[in-house]
Amino acid sequence: MFVVGTAGHVDHGKSTLIRALSGIDPDRLKEEKERGLTIELGFAWVTLPSGREVSMVDVPGHERFVKNMLMGVGGIDLALFIVAADEGVMPQTREHLAILDLLDVKHAIIVLTKTDLVDPDWLELVTAEVEETLAGTALEGSPVATVSAERGDGLEALLVQIDNSLNDLPPRADLGRPRLPVDRAFTMSGFGAVVTGTLADGGLKVGQEIELLPSGRKARIRGLQSHQTPLDEARPGIRLAVNLSGIEHSDIERGEVLTTPGWLEPCTAFDASVRVIDAAPRPLRHNHRLVLYSGTSETPVTVRVLEGNTVPAGESGWAQVRATAPVPVVRGDRFVLRDTQDTIGGGVVLDTNAPRRRRNDPQVIGRLKALASGSAESAAIESLRGSEPVTAAALAQSLNMPDAEARELIDRLLKDGQAVEITSDAGAFLFSAPGWAGIQRVALDSVKTYHAQYAIRPGMPREELRNRLKLRAGPFAGAIERMTADEALASQGATVRLPSHDPALSPEQQRAVDGYLAILGSEPYSPRTDSPIDPELLVRLESEERIVRCGDVVYLASAFDDMSGRVGELARGDGGAITIASVREMFGTSRKYTLAFLEELDRRGVTVRRGDDRTLLNP
Ligand code: GDP
Repeated sequence: MFVVGTAGHVDHGKSTLIRALSGIDPDRLKEEKERGLTIELGFAWVTLPSGREVSMVDVPGHERFVKNMLMGVGGIDLALFIVAADEGVMPQTREHLAILDLLDVKHAIIVLTKTDLVDPDWLELVTAEVEETLAGTALEGSPVATVSAERGDGLEALLVQIDNSLNDLPPRADLGRPRLPVDRAFTMSGFGAVVTGTLADGGLKVGQEIELLPSGRKARIRGLQSHQTPLDEARPGIRLAVNLSGIEHSDIERGEVLTTPGWLEPCTAFDASVRVIDAAPRPLRHNHRLVLYSGTSETPVTVRVLEGNTVPAGESGWAQVRATAPVPVVRGDRFVLRDTQDTIGGGVVLDTNAPRRRRNDPQVIGRLKALASGSAESAAIESLRGSEPVTAAALAQSLNMPDAEARELIDRLLKDGQAVEITSDAGAFLFSAPGWAGIQRVALDSVKTYHAQYAIRPGMPREELRNRLKLRAGPFAGAIERMTADEALASQGATVRLPSHDPALSPEQQRAVDGYLAILGSEPYSPRTDSPIDPELLVRLESEERIVRCGDVVYLASAFDDMSGRVGELARGDGGAITIASVREMFGTSRKYTLAFLEELDRRGVTVRRGDDRTLLNP
């Protein structure tokens, strides 16, 4: 199925033409009828001479409603680019042309309307003017049709031309990831919430669970309808009404994307190639505040120009678009940027996993160039390098490729050694080959430095290494598992070490430890706090669980366990209550020791403090 949409200046006869072709009045709002002006999008459908049915979207031409035009024009396959023969090229003729160009609508029929109002010489002049306007744009060389809706001239020929133009188009791609940008949400009595839009990239079925983004609200498809005919399932490239259960229409906003749950992560920043239109009244500046039009959504954004400080009218550049709210875009999506009055430009989404980029950095620019023009392989590598580690599914999404095709591509990269897949209980994560080499290098260097600094500690705490590597828990676990399997590292409890690391104590250190433990053991409940020991040896004894540190007081672990056991017994005999006096008395010790000990029990969650007294947490 294909969608045909109108474009062109206000009052040039767009709605009249759709009505004449389809017999359906696309101006659905009473206000529009009264003012004779298309504000909202109008929808109709028509059966072409070949028997093929197409959806028709009528967009408003008035400059105040360009944003509504943008919502309608996004999903169209073929534009009817309309110019009234009596008026010729007008401001929104040019603006709509620029927008079609930015949104990569390459297929169009130029329709000169109202031919009944002009003579043939004039018509020839206007045709020449329109062709001149189209020169150098994607629509240059499009077929031209002339019609008078008033008299009915040229309508049959136009339908044949639409058929012919659609014959040349490839069928809509099915990536298995349906997206329907919502252009209307309303309630139908007896049915509940209904949304409408043009379906792209995948099919939908009755009964299926769906998600609305960016809100994340879930619902179920109760019914599907296209051109007032109920459907069990819908293929991409169709105007669709989706009846939803489990959601109120007031919870759905125009501009949201209806999709299947779990794959599309809305983002607040994406990298893009941008183009500023010839007619832009000002250049695109760094940190320019604009409005992003993507699908049917409208989002305030700040555009960071990544190379130079501006992109002048008529030129292209690289940018990062930072949005004030998450936008559910995927790689390859086209968008338009406008300020309050004017269309400035637009572009293509290159990378949705975009951290803040350094400006004027040749590496960043090189990456974007590869993403914009390279092969699938180089795009995958660049996408990986910009967001690694990622899951295969996330990479498939950022490449906007069907999962199976992405998997094949990933397997090729793994086989060529361009990527590495690290698996653990937490899942499988992909690294680029240089990315993985970097992780290994930083891990080994960090652990080595740690050993040099703390020779007698068993190893580097895992969390400390994880922070150094800046990895999330899942990929980190996988990375350590892989390096342990490769015998590059050894894992020991909560620490990691080099396999060669020997944390043995020197004879002198051993003597110091023995002496220190003997001193602690001589008065186990009131151990001396003034006996000197190297803090590193203390850390080591603690990590071996031979001592327990309670602030300044250090107990032998055996003494601490003994005391904890006896305090527990005492308290259980006393309904769970513990006082400082009773503990002091029991161990014949001072208040200082008693407090240090009890505070450690509090920290460990054995006891709960109330005023000066305590109770056992689990008597
Ligand atoms: P839109 O704003 O581009 O959708 O324009 P409309 O379809 O609302 O048409 C604007 C005006 O032009 C209306 O008054 C129509 O009746 C008139 N119109 C549209 N098509 C023709 C035509 O072929 N011949 C003449 N004479 N008038 C037309």
